Amino acid sequence: SLTIGIVGLPNVGKSTMFNALTRNNVLAENYPFATIEPNTGIVPLPDNRLPVLAKLVHTEKIVPATVTFVDIAGIVKGASEGEGLGNKFLANIREADAICEVVRAFEDDDIVHVNGRVDPADDIDTINTELILADMQTIENALPKLEKDLRGKKIEPAYLEAVKKAKEILEGGETIDHAAAAGRIDKADIYDLHLMTAKPFIYVFNVDDDELANEDLKKKLADSVAPAPAVFLNAQFEADLTELDEADAREMLADAGLSESGLDQLARVGFDILGLQTFLTAGEKEVRAWQIHKGYTAPQAAGVIHTDFEKGFIKADIVSYDDFVAADGSMATIKEEGKLRQEGRDYVMQDGDIVEFKFSP
Ligand code: GDP
Repeated sequence: SLTIGIVGLPNVGKSTMFNALTRNNVLAENYPFATIEPNTGIVPLPDNRLPVLAKLVHTEKIVPATVTFVDIAGIVKGASEGEGLGNKFLANIREADAICEVVRAFEDDDIVHVNGRVDPADDIDTINTELILADMQTIENALPKLEKDLRGKKIEPAYLEAVKKAKEILEGGETIDHAAAAGRIDKADIYDLHLMTAKPFIYVFNVDDDELANEDLKKKLADSVAPAPAVFLNAQFEADLTELDEADAREMLADAGLSESGLDQLARVGFDILGLQTFLTAGEKEVRAWQIHKGYTAPQAAGVIHTDFEKGFIKADIVSYDDFVAADGSMATIKEEGKLRQEGRDYVMQDGDIVEFKFSP
């Protein structure tokens, strides 16, 4: 499954946040076969629709989609020079499908900042510079062979052009993710290089309560990383939340003027930047959110449930979540009102689709 690697300078609150994420781990019963490494946290994708559906179809069992986070410990500064730990650090980032950068914005005199002062922009620069340098190295290493392949007509000139363009962007101190979002390079053109800064980035700003309420500050920080998404949370507060039962946690959130925990928000944003979406099934046995890539067709989505469903795909009976709820979950009503759609092989799955696949065994 796709993973999001958590990186950041020391003492920014990574462990606090990661431990809170993993304590949120309610999934053991649904995923008894998943071996969970200590540095891996599998987190439910928050979805308020699932309990509503469960009530309508009279089941207790809810299986949410999940988001997998990997805590990438290790040094940051000097990592690109490739000594010992630096190599391991970069290797772990290479394995992740997206990068979640935790940045300290909270002030606390008791907690030393590695650079001596709290400066989010400077911290981001420190981390991204290492990743950019490592990517430049990747390109330097690849270029001689690419030049040779071009002479031997094994690659298209356009490919080498794209690689050189990537090099220029990196030399300018910019991540490929950022340049791609601005339309200055197409990630697909240089996919083969597997550059780290071509992965999607999320920035998590670890803030204190005052900062969390300071819209101007948050806007400034969000703008500094845009169009990459920014999430603001107080890691210590999030950790405290996970200690409470659901009702108390909801009360504590409401008291803080929040509608959703920062970790839930992070899970949603992470799921989205991984290019994932869900579709739903609602039966007597269970209500479930299945994760698929955005753009999956009905047969591809069927294949996520069972390969036989994809091979023998006939059609998908689909009702939208809103229509299902409006009909109180009554299939008779849904059919009567013409809300049950029959979709074929080319149908592209939409968020909120409640599906029953028809297939020939
Ligand atoms: P890491 O090195 O990035 O993993 O950072 P830790 O999670 O170990 O946190 C470093 C220190 O900062 C610990 O003493 C935490 O209790 C503290 N800390 C983490 N998050 C917050 C926060 O949001 N506010 C404050 N004041 N302290 C925090």
